[in-house]
Amino acid sequence: MSLFENTLAQIKRASDIMSLDKDIAMILSNPMRKVEVNIPVRMDDGTLRMFTGFRVQHNNACGPFKGGIRYHQQVDFGEVMALSAWMTIKCSVVGIPLGGGKGGIIVNPKELSKGELERLTRGYIRLIAPVIGPKTDVPAPDVNTTPEIMSWIADEYSKIVGHDAKGVVTGKPLENGGSKGRDKATAMGGTYVLNEYAAENGMNPAETRIIVQGFGNAGSIMIELLTAEGYKLVGTSDSQGGVYSADGLDFAALTQCKAEKGTVHAFEGANAKAITNEELLIQDCDILILAALENQLTAGNADQVKAKLVIELANGPTMPEADEILAKKNVLVIPDILANAGGVTVSWFEMLQNADDKYWETDEVNSKLKDIMVKAWNEVKGNKSKYNCTFREAAFITAIGRVEAAIKANWKI
Ligand code: NAD
Repeated sequence: MSLFENTLAQIKRASDIMSLDKDIAMILSNPMRKVEVNIPVRMDDGTLRMFTGFRVQHNNACGPFKGGIRYHQQVDFGEVMALSAWMTIKCSVVGIPLGGGKGGIIVNPKELSKGELERLTRGYIRLIAPVIGPKTDVPAPDVNTTPEIMSWIADEYSKIVGHDAKGVVTGKPLENGGSKGRDKATAMGGTYVLNEYAAENGMNPAETRIIVQGFGNAGSIMIELLTAEGYKLVGTSDSQGGVYSADGLDFAALTQCKAEKGTVHAFEGANAKAITNEELLIQDCDILILAALENQLTAGNADQVKAKLVIELANGPTMPEADEILAKKNVLVIPDILANAGGVTVSWFEMLQNADDKYWETDEVNSKLKDIMVKAWNEVKGNKSKYNCTFREAAFITAIGRVEAAIKANWKI
């Protein structure tokens, strides 16, 4: 099953449970626009290379398309379509006035020099400029794209339209119109949701062991926030492999190891043992936090998961077959579209601040984020009990209900 077929299956499950109008289900099962571009880039050695990029605009009933740009060698149209549909749903789960979009370029950015990466980014933006804009479609960072890349996008787009249009993209550096709190927003949003769950279920952080797959923006900051609250980190990983210690792993020491050796897999001390990424997912722990890539829990490993709670900071890390296995094992999954929605929520705050040219302090950002995440958590929980379904189904139902109302309020068919 492709990633987009997974997404369609998720939409269908929720649609069946909530008896969704068939017309709405059809609209949500098809992106509104798909753009493919070929980007010629002059490499440092004088040769010309051609890269393929995508922008998919899934639905804008609730507001401008919104979604990150991913640079990865395995990006394809299907993946970007799936991610764009999840963005529609995600923005709607948290009730912010945005739709869903996503972009990607097939590239391993680690193989490019900074100059090549900048020329690639600017070339991509020149090609998709006709379909993006501060009130049309607003990209953001995703896997392997950074605040600096967002700055290049803002600059290139502003040159094309002939005026300052930095609101065309979010996730910018602070000195170029970024929002305070955006760098930590995804993990912060996930933490607010986990805190609600923990308080409701009498969970004591000091007695709760966590494993976090992925030591990037989302994963490493989640580790920083949760270990500061007393949770015990027993395992983590990056693309090169994982590390596990029943005695607990220290965030600062892991960060230093990553900076010096390029991977947490090389971490030594605290009785740590190097393990593979596959092994990481099935180690003993209470909460498994997935913060790397999609399709990590599958029919092949879900049965061996020891955690009682899975939190999806990554998009699409649990395949539908794995979801069913976990549900049978009574493992709760807090789904991506809720758990990682903090990122897009603060991206929306960034759009508001850019439009107003007034900037908020970190405390204001975090307090507004918390209000939105807690409200969404309670709404999803309400639908979970109302429909007696999983958190994922309840989150889709919450979101689809809102998108349905927006489409019907403004039928253009
Ligand atoms: P990132 O590039 O900063 O980090 C990704 C991490 O995953 C890196 O540590 C990388 O080494 C690791 N990784 C890659 N392949 C792996 C593998 N096979 N096994 C284990 N680890 C692997 O990206 P990010 O921004 O942290 O995004 C991670 C996930 O979170 C993605 O699914 C992304 O779509 C999602 N997400 C991110 C944000 C955000 O604000 N950063 C917001 C919403 C969703």
